[in-house]
Amino acid sequence: MKRNPTRSVRVGDAFLGGGHPIAVQSMCATRTQDVDATVQQAEALHAAGAVLVRVAVDSARDVEALAEIRRQTVANLVVDLQENYRLAAQVAPHVHKVRYNPGHLYHHEKDKPVREKVRFLTEVARAHDCAIRVGVNCGSVDPVTKARHPGDDVAAMVESALEHCRLLDELGFDRYVVSLKDSHPRKVIEANLRFAAERPDVPLHLGVTEAGIPPEGIIKTRVAFEQLLSRGVGDTLRVSLTLPNPRKPEEVAAGLQILADIAAGRFRSVPVFDDDRLNIISCPSCSRVENERFVELAEAVKEMTLYAEAHALTIAVMGCRVNGPGETDDADLGLWCGPTHVNLKRRTESVGAFTYDEILGRLKHELDQLIEARTATAAC
Ligand code: SF4
Repeated sequence: MKRNPTRSVRVGDAFLGGGHPIAVQSMCATRTQDVDATVQQAEALHAAGAVLVRVAVDSARDVEALAEIRRQTVANLVVDLQENYRLAAQVAPHVHKVRYNPGHLYHHEKDKPVREKVRFLTEVARAHDCAIRVGVNCGSVDPVTKARHPGDDVAAMVESALEHCRLLDELGFDRYVVSLKDSHPRKVIEANLRFAAERPDVPLHLGVTEAGIPPEGIIKTRVAFEQLLSRGVGDTLRVSLTLPNPRKPEEVAAGLQILADIAAGRFRSVPVFDDDRLNIISCPSCSRVENERFVELAEAVKEMTLYAEAHALTIAVMGCRVNGPGETDDADLGLWCGPTHVNLKRRTESVGAFTYDEILGRLKHELDQLIEARTATAAC
């Protein structure tokens, strides 16, 4: 397979980029503090072929659990930091790579220059032999960068990634990879191609975030990966699927299958991601899910909305309050799950919070209204 001339980045006993085999990775969706369940899932993902296994850490208690998880699994562990970037100092001794989101870094300790926060992360990474991933997500680019690119999310994402590469380069840290993710394969393709054109040396972690339930989630991801990997773009990847915990290793199997097909030249006719039809996106779930009915809800939404398939609308179903509110802004209708209620939005506007028993009926009501409004406009 043709590959971009990226540099090699070591993560534990794995290497990303530099012509090394494209590494498939995955993420635990168990509660991090449930050590037994997380170890079991990390081992299952590792056994399925995940070269790296990511764990979310949001609190000091999660850090304690992580130390124990480290002792009990052989998997190469990566930690996903949210806004509290200072937790890196506590998690780095237990992992091989730290992922930070530049958008989240911007919001935490706002008075401190971003450069200082990145410097802190590089010092921690150096001290503990860790690599770094700059993980840019379309839904959480910092507002200043976003404002410079009105109406062009992809340009904002690319600028954010390039800026952080510059910061890391200036700090003399080169053990980093970059990801540019969105829930729409078209944006993922565009962002990664634009970035790779500017920085062909930086290894890329590919992913379509919140791709949803299989098989559609795999199809969206395959669309993006076929387009990018066939052009030599991509050094590691994750297929993010909404799955119950025991089926999480299917993410790894899907990634390996896509790679095997591409390597063997078995390009299926690339499915056109049909923008004229209903698009349901749902997050892959992780330890931040506060009500396990989330996966069931995502499946029920898919089934309930079948009747609206011919309408070009997007419905997003997200598992938690951390990323749910922001990541649903671009959807025509967005749902994000809390412990007892599901929050419903029309794009950025809140419709209200409904119980898990009420939400489907309310969603249908909103969907019918949207369809009616669009049909009336089309008839004018
Ligand atoms: S939306 Fe929340 S629950 Fe879903 S993957 Fe993202 S952080 Fe995890």
